Amino acid sequence: MSAKSVPVLPSPKTSNIAQQANFSIPPLVGAGLEELTAWVYNQGQPAYRGKQLHEWIYQKGVRSLSDISVFPKQWRAEVAEIPIGRSNIHYRSVASDGTVKYLLQLADNQIIECVGIPAEKRLTVCVSTQVGCPMACDFCATGKEGYKRNLARHEIVDQVLTVQEDFQQRVSHVVFMGMGEPLLNTDHVIGAIKSLNQDVGIGQRNLTVSTVGIRDRIRSFAQHQLQVTLAVSLHAPNQALREQLIPSARSYPIEDLLAECREYVKMTGRRVSFEYILLAGVNDLPEHALELTRHLRGFQSHVNLIPYNPITEADYKRPNQNRIQAFVKVLKQQQIAVSVRYSRGLEADAACGQLRVKKVPSSES
Ligand code: SAH
Repeated sequence: MSAKSVPVLPSPKTSNIAQQANFSIPPLVGAGLEELTAWVYNQGQPAYRGKQLHEWIYQKGVRSLSDISVFPKQWRAEVAEIPIGRSNIHYRSVASDGTVKYLLQLADNQIIECVGIPAEKRLTVCVSTQVGCPMACDFCATGKEGYKRNLARHEIVDQVLTVQEDFQQRVSHVVFMGMGEPLLNTDHVIGAIKSLNQDVGIGQRNLTVSTVGIRDRIRSFAQHQLQVTLAVSLHAPNQALREQLIPSARSYPIEDLLAECREYVKMTGRRVSFEYILLAGVNDLPEHALELTRHLRGFQSHVNLIPYNPITEADYKRPNQNRIQAFVKVLKQQQIAVSVRYSRGLEADAACGQLRVKKVPSSES
């Protein structure tokens, strides 16, 4: 700059930061420090207020801009009506194992579910990624209610903030296993993962995304080089059986799905976790287990067996312990890493596959 030139401070409304930012925000929940800083700057406020806003959203869990006491009074009044992007708890039910199911009401009055699952030194949140689900898997309650829309980034992050606030405890793990198919909503899911990691402060390795498998989406998800765990809902050891249980499998053969999973392992260096629901007499026989091991030999993977959680619309039964253990034994004999996931929250209808919005007690609404 020459000695004569007069420094011109950029007007906040036209500055570079402001132009680079995406001003479709607010909602502010889910936005990172840079986005928030750009937003406050665009509002004519000094940049350091971005850091304050970030702290109030993610550390203090503020629900309205007017409650941020470190902001100037006049500005607080001006922005009081701008939605920050938090939902309201519409209904809350607690199971005896401490699992809490929440029905959350979104800005457009849609209702979604999320679940808080406490364990020793852990608090896991199971988040939804869509309102309803279009996949219509035969054993899952969510799909029976149809599909409404994708959730936005802030609506996913909000679920975690809500559970954190309600438990008064930091959330340590998040599983994208609630309502919906995450890989049909990849952009917002990836945005939420980044925010949960960088803003809420949860390690990427403590985040698990579960998918039924959408052609080409596992590969494109891998390209983001995240350190999250990918869980794939396999549920059957062959195409014929898988098609029976999962309608979308008809257009995505199991061999293609497994090939894409192998690519995922190669691209990310992370193993894939396969979820396998156990349905008595349908897919839980030792020969099914053996067939499954043939697909997984030499594959950097882990099998998570989920004994079926009953839903009223389906006739399936949960296998007994002997059957479950016999299945486990076959996998172990073939050196396949395996665990059994006994879902928590059964009596609150909060277990895997039981999430639906229909059970809103009208007296509570
Ligand atoms: N759409 C994603 C994530 C949501 S479901 C997916 O399919 O992976 C999370 C897990 O719960 C999936 O493995 C799903 O197949 C399983 N699940 C669905 N219904 C179930 C039920 N009734 N009992 C046990 N697990 C179920």
